[in-house]
Amino acid sequence: MRITIIGTGYVGLVTGACLAEVGNDVCCLDVDQGKIDLLNRGGIPIFEPGLGDIVARNRAARRLKFSTDMAAGVTHGEILFIAVGTPPDEDGSADLQYVLSAARSIGRYMNGFKVVVDKSTVPVGTADKVRAVIQEELRTRDSHTRFSVVSNPEFLKEGAAVEDFMRPDRIVIGCDNTPDGEHAHQLMKTLYMPFNRNHERTFWMDVRSAEFTKYAANAMLATRISFMNEMADLADAVGVDIEAVRHGIGSDPRIGYSFLYAGCGYGGSCFPKDVQALERTAREHGRDLLILRAVEEVNHQQKRVLGEKIIRRFGEDLSGHHFAVWGLAFKPNTNDMREAPSRVLLRQLLGRGASVAVHDPVAMEEAKRVLAIDFADAPELLARIRFCDVPMDALPGADALAIVTEWKAFRSPDFAALKAALKSPVIFDGRNLFDPQVMADAGVEYHGIGRSACTQAQAT
Ligand code: NAD
Repeated sequence: MRITIIGTGYVGLVTGACLAEVGNDVCCLDVDQGKIDLLNRGGIPIFEPGLGDIVARNRAARRLKFSTDMAAGVTHGEILFIAVGTPPDEDGSADLQYVLSAARSIGRYMNGFKVVVDKSTVPVGTADKVRAVIQEELRTRDSHTRFSVVSNPEFLKEGAAVEDFMRPDRIVIGCDNTPDGEHAHQLMKTLYMPFNRNHERTFWMDVRSAEFTKYAANAMLATRISFMNEMADLADAVGVDIEAVRHGIGSDPRIGYSFLYAGCGYGGSCFPKDVQALERTAREHGRDLLILRAVEEVNHQQKRVLGEKIIRRFGEDLSGHHFAVWGLAFKPNTNDMREAPSRVLLRQLLGRGASVAVHDPVAMEEAKRVLAIDFADAPELLARIRFCDVPMDALPGADALAIVTEWKAFRSPDFAALKAALKSPVIFDGRNLFDPQVMADAGVEYHGIGRSACTQAQAT
């Protein structure tokens, strides 16, 4: 099939590459000329395991091309995916300007029946807006070309995006109950056939329910994280080990183990903005989502937890202190720094006079870019960040090591070497990577999240 992807970011590039991989003829469009030039030179603008190989293979087979030519791109596809960003507006609602601008391009250039797929995460009712914009454009050129707008929200996880797309848990598709909607249904069914071979994974529904499903899923996952973080805080206060509790409750199949880790807060491009957008939708309809308000508030506090533990240990004034930080990306296997907890920690430490040495396996360049913006108002703070190419280089002279991202490479360090390199053997583990007993045996002072029961027990 001929497919066009409008917006070649995380979601658009992975979608385009994976659809080309199963034999489709894909054109990926973007307004960012630099990104398209990079892709056309064989580069990959994001770090995503396995993506480079798929892109290279399908470019070589001429099933995948990249362009900024909207007219040619829109004409190319019989199915057009809108995969542009939907960042939060000032009031927390999803900013639909990019989605509607993509819709405008479609309306301007479409030449025959098109299925227009909202792949971006968009609030309930967006398909109606996309339809209206396309119709308006068609009217201005007196065209009666038919089309159908479909909702197909994306559930891929950064860091496992290719695997998630190729072997999805589920595919959610919302179509209109009209003849054009039925035509779109058939085309979408054919498109996703290769991903349903093992068993049927598609959930067909109406468009609004599909739009809502994505937000409800992310809100649920964010809720589990904030719930566990709140439990971890209480665990610290009452002398309970949150890891024991996690095993104890996760074994209940009604609860399950996924997304039950206490840590230093969630970040990324999706959970924070999607929770906010859902709250905003609720307010527009006279509802107040009390649970989600709390989820956000807990996460906001949680991002400060590691810094607060450090301040409790070393004092409010951190001038003269130096800390090592492992992990900058908001989660492992990505270089994405959007809403990353590391940014909050660095602001806390540097703002109190400390200096830091940081390492991340893949997010260093992106971190330099993002932190330059974060500290544009305070270049003297930025100057106190040293970027290290290997984790151990961050340690010498540090009063403590703080771990912010659970990269695999951090899980089994040489503790003897680590202890020898640090000025004082103290670890603040924002992802509960280490066993407090092993830390105690290694002579390391260990501060996890919700694990004080273990560390206190060892101290007595
Ligand atoms: P992104 O910022 O990485 O990519 C968006 C791309 O769209 C950019 O390259 C931008 O230049 C381009 N763009 C903007 N306006 C355009 C236009 N009018 N025409 C063509 N291109 C245009 O965003 P992303 O992370 O891929 O997210 C895209 C959508 O998918 C969002 O709604 C997001 O919430 C959702 N989503 C993201 C993830 C994720 O893990 N990143 C997962 C599921 C869903």
